[in-house]
Amino acid sequence: MTLTLSELLFYYVAVMLAGLAFVGLYSEFRRRRFEPPRSDDNVFRCSGCAYVYTDDPNVERSRCPHCSAMNSKFNF
Ligand SMILES: [Zn+2]
Repeated sequence: MTLTLSELLFYYVAVMLAGLAFVGLYSEFRRRRFEPPRSDDNVFRCSGCAYVYTDDPNVERSRCPHCSAMNSKFNF
């Protein structure tokens, strides 16, 4: 079996493209797999005792379970 130069180039480019596609898909797969699970809960940090807790996403203000102070949503 003999290959011409153009055939060699064709296979070379085809293998390169397949490798690139594989790497792209693999990194996309890794990115999706290792992304932290999305949590819609709001995070609150108590202004009275510095306790950090979460509450339902539909509340803007929440009562601290430790000292009962009202706290606003904490934005990162
Ligand atoms: Zn508190």
